Amino acid sequence: MPLIHEHHCDTCEFSMPTGWGSYMYVRAKICAECGERVNEIEDFCVGCGTPTDSVDVAGYERVTCSHPTEELMVRRVIGEDYSDEKRDERVGYISHCVCRDCVTKFNVDIERDGRQCPDCGSSRVQTLVELVDEECPNCSEGTFIEGENRGRA
Ligand SMILES: [Zn+2]
Ligand SMILES: [Zn+2]
Ligand SMILES: [Zn+2]
Repeated sequence: MPLIHEHHCDTCEFSMPTGWGSYMYVRAKICAECGERVNEIEDFCVGCGTPTDSVDVAGYERVTCSHPTEELMVRRVIGEDYSDEKRDERVGYISHCVCRDCVTKFNVDIERDGRQCPDCGSSRVQTLVELVDEECPNCSEGTFIEGENRGRA
């Protein structure tokens, strides 16, 4: 069994999700014709049968790439044959974040979305990784620490 990483304040009840603090996602095209997510590994849109190359893009959807099959999901969504540019443009990382002003927890891609709390608009946003060994945003007395446990039997 792998160790489960968990993060919490050593003084109050404040804690953050278990895991590594971030996860990968890939932006999938949404077909304007039928609203389905387009898997570029397929030749046609599964929803309406439009050839993948000529699909009109209505927008993009962020699809979570779960460990350890991230690369399979990337290939499914953006196709087998992608350039580094295409990959950079379509793949990103979502971090677990907390607002130091209102203590709202949320998940964002810091690089693309920037640091802004969706609740109060504050830019005093820290990722889980940055928060480790810092003052707890909830009680301002404790220290936010990283621990490991093997889960509860
Ligand atoms: Zn605390
Ligand atoms: Zn379609
Ligand atoms: Zn806030």
